[in-house]
Amino acid sequence: MTDFIVDSHCHLDMPDFDKDRQEVVQKARSVGVRGFVIPGTTARRWNKMLKIARAAHDIWPALGLHPYYCDTHTETELEQLEEKISKEHPIAIGEIGLDLFLPQLDEKKQRFYLEAQLDLARKYDLPVILHIRKANDPVLQLLRQHPVRGGICHAFSGSLQQAHKFIDQGFCLGFGGMLTFERSRKLRDLARNLPLDALLLETDAPDMSGEKHRYQRNSPEYLPEVLDVLETLRDESRAQIACQTTLNLQQLFGLQIPGFH
Ligand SMILES: [Zn+2]
Repeated sequence: MTDFIVDSHCHLDMPDFDKDRQEVVQKARSVGVRGFVIPGTTARRWNKMLKIARAAHDIWPALGLHPYYCDTHTETELEQLEEKISKEHPIAIGEIGLDLFLPQLDEKKQRFYLEAQLDLARKYDLPVILHIRKANDPVLQLLRQHPVRGGICHAFSGSLQQAHKFIDQGFCLGFGGMLTFERSRKLRDLARNLPLDALLLETDAPDMSGEKHRYQRNSPEYLPEVLDVLETLRDESRAQIACQTTLNLQQLFGLQIPGFH
């Protein structure tokens, strides 16, 4: 029997999947991946994402402006985002955030788009999908100034204390390919010690490949490998971890996941 798991973060709209998107999704389903969240990156990609999601019952889009591309975002796109939200009803606003790891990204611009999108999330009562690198405390501070109903800290990397602060604000934490590297000790400790009802599985495909697929395209079909590691780290059974992480995503986004009860 395969697991019943969901990929809470995969960029299926990326050109990396243009040649074999349908096959990738089918392969993932065949190994137990029964749901896919596609987070938004830039305004010009939203329509493609929405089209991919509309064609399937188990793919859900989030719409947003990713901090990586802060140089290309415009204020008009923020207005377009609001229009899209009221028309398309995405499950969340994302991927939004603050990346202080890459020095070429303008922090001021990143903060501007993050704050504006947090305010939209509050206005439309939507959860958010956060991308945070070297910026957990600044983002926690922004969340106090711009409170939202919660969401996901995707590819979480931080201290146990920071993790709990996010959980207290209604967030779940996403763990993916990085966990499959034995040297990821700190991350593995976190995944071992956090409450199961705060954990989510993700791939971030086509990026963040795990140990077995280093330097290759990452894919949602490898999501069971994240579950393999969690199973070795935690006391709960594989089935319990699969079920609870799926339930976490369902509750966070108020989703109907076909076949999941
Ligand atoms: Zn991402």
